[in-house]
Order: sequence, then structure tokens, then C-alpha cells
Amino acid sequence: MPEVDLAALFGGQRRALAKAITLIESTQSAHRQAAAALLDACLPQTGGSLRIGISGVPGVGKSTFIEAFGLYLIGLGKRVGVLAVDPSSPLHGGSILGDKTRMERLSREDHAFIRPSPAGRSLGGVANRTREAILVAEAAGFDVILVETVGVGQSEYEVHSMTDLFVVLMQPGAGDELQGIKKGILELADFIVVNKADGEAERMANQSVMHYKNAMGFLNHSGFWTPEVLSVSSLKPRGIDTLWTRIEAYFETGAETIEARRTAQALQWFERLLNDQVAELLKTDPTWRRIYQRNYQAVQHGEMAPPAAAMACLDPLKQALSSTQ
Ligand code: GDP
Repeated sequence: MPEVDLAALFGGQRRALAKAITLIESTQSAHRQAAAALLDACLPQTGGSLRIGISGVPGVGKSTFIEAFGLYLIGLGKRVGVLAVDPSSPLHGGSILGDKTRMERLSREDHAFIRPSPAGRSLGGVANRTREAILVAEAAGFDVILVETVGVGQSEYEVHSMTDLFVVLMQPGAGDELQGIKKGILELADFIVVNKADGEAERMANQSVMHYKNAMGFLNHSGFWTPEVLSVSSLKPRGIDTLWTRIEAYFETGAETIEARRTAQALQWFERLLNDQVAELLKTDPTWRRIYQRNYQAVQHGEMAPPAAAMACLDPLKQALSSTQ
């Protein structure tokens, strides 16, 4: 694994950023350590981007929208990073951004950086790598980071927990059930964007806007922002400028809350890593593994209740700690 050139990364060079993300995605333990050190080095340079999650079922037009939106932002002089959390990639080895024909124009832009979802991992693993990729992309000076995910399940919650603003794309016409969108996902949305508002579908798109405005009124939303519903055509493109104006308003209104939320997100990420790593250690360290297996089997055979078995697993850690005091 080649060294990441920090000066080149901080200078915004895309090759250095790509290398840094390759390091981040490596599963080798030496690389994990190097990646953790890299993130630490990047930390003072992070926090400067707008982190935007984008979700919607396959076919709704996510890549067409991201291309139109990304090109619009580049036109405003911004640098745009596109990352993905694709829970399906570990299954069929592909990923939502893996197809090179997607976002062809955006990918040719010097001020764009597009990275597919890392493959071959659990959703939690994919999400953690994307959290790390957001930080290095910020250190490389990207102003807006779009994190794409498919609107079918748990991955929305992951993307919501690493971004500042969440956009759900919708088709014109079809009801929510038909679109396979769960009510819970609408509750995450800061913006509902009805895409494909062009040609014959335009009238239907306007009706959908009314429908979602109504529907959102029944959902509970906390915080500084009342979710907004807009229509766009990503193909024409049309309505992207209005959407951007509202997104800017969101970031201006919510600056303080967003800052506090980022801290909460970082702490939650830390807690989860700690939990995962203790569980991982329990299963890989030879001594701990024996104790883990003994207690696992005791629960399996109904000889111990889970709380006592979990406590017994941690006994060696407690003993080790008390012997060092
Ligand atoms: P994804 O699977 O969500 O990434 O969807 P795609 O971006 O691949 O788009 C799916 C299909 O919808 C493609 O045939 C696009 O050309 C079409 N599409 C996307 N956005 C629009 C739009 O604004 N208007 C129209 N008419 N078609 C669109």
C-alpha cells in the first residue's frame, strides 16, 4: 500500500484522495492503523463541507439528479464529492456508483470526485468506510459531499447519521407504497424532491408535490427545519437552482444545530466502533474466544441466561484491569 501524500491530499489532488480512500477501504490490520493515523492527520482540515444524503428507489433518477446537481454546483465554483452507501454491493459485487456510464459528464469534471460504495462488507462496514471517506474528502477541500443510497431499508438511517441534510427523491404519480418507500424514510427527509417533472409527467409531478406536502404535515419533525417538497427535472434540467437556494437556506438557518449534530454523530460513531471492536476482540483473542464460546454454548443449551453469560465474558477483562491498578 503506497504512502498517502498528505500535502497533495490537502492540496486537493484527486489522485491522493483516491489513494487515501483505497487505504481506508483496506481490511489489513496494518492498513487500518495507517488509515486511523491518516484520519487523525486530516481532522484539523475537516468539517468544511456540506454533507448531503440522497436516497430514492432504483430508477427514480438518483444518478441523473446527482449529475445535474453536481454540474450545477461546479458551475457555481464548488468542488463536489460523490460517495455511496450501497447495501446491495456485498451481495452481487457491484455497486450503485460502480457502473462507469453513470454520471459520465460529472465524472469528467476536474472539480468532481466520484467514488463507488466499497464492496464485500456488511452495511455497517460500508457505512464506516464512507464516514471516513467524507473526512478525507473534506481534507482535500471538497465543498459539497453527496452521499447516495438506495431507498429500500436500513442504509438510509446510516446515511442520515453521517450527513447534515437528507434528500429523498420520488417519482411523479405513484403513491408511497408503490414506490417502496417506508414512512420511516420520509421522516428522515429534509427535502422531498419529486423528479422527472417534465413532459407529460409534469402535471403528475405537481400533484405529487401537493400529496407529499400533505403527507409530511402528518409526520413528526423536530428541530429547526420544516421539510420542504419540490419538483425538479434532472434531465432538462429544471428546478435545481431553486432546490439549491432552499438547501442554502437550510444550512444558514441550522448552522448551530448542524454543528451540534455533527458532534453527536461523531460520538455515536465512536461508541459504535468501540462496541464493535470489543465484540470483535472477544471473538478473535484466543483466551477470550474460549470464554466467549463457553458462554455462548451455555446460552445455546439453556444453562445460563444471557445477562449472566455476557457478564462472565467480561470477567477476564475486569481481572486484567484490576491487576494493573
Ligand atoms: P437511479 O437508478 O435512481 O440512479 O436512476 P437513473 O438516474 O439511472 O434514472 C432512471 C431513468 O430515469 C433513466 O432512464 C433516466 O434517463 C430517467 N430520468 C432520470 N431523471 C429524469 C428526469 O428528470 N426526467 C425524465 N423524463 N427522465 C428522467
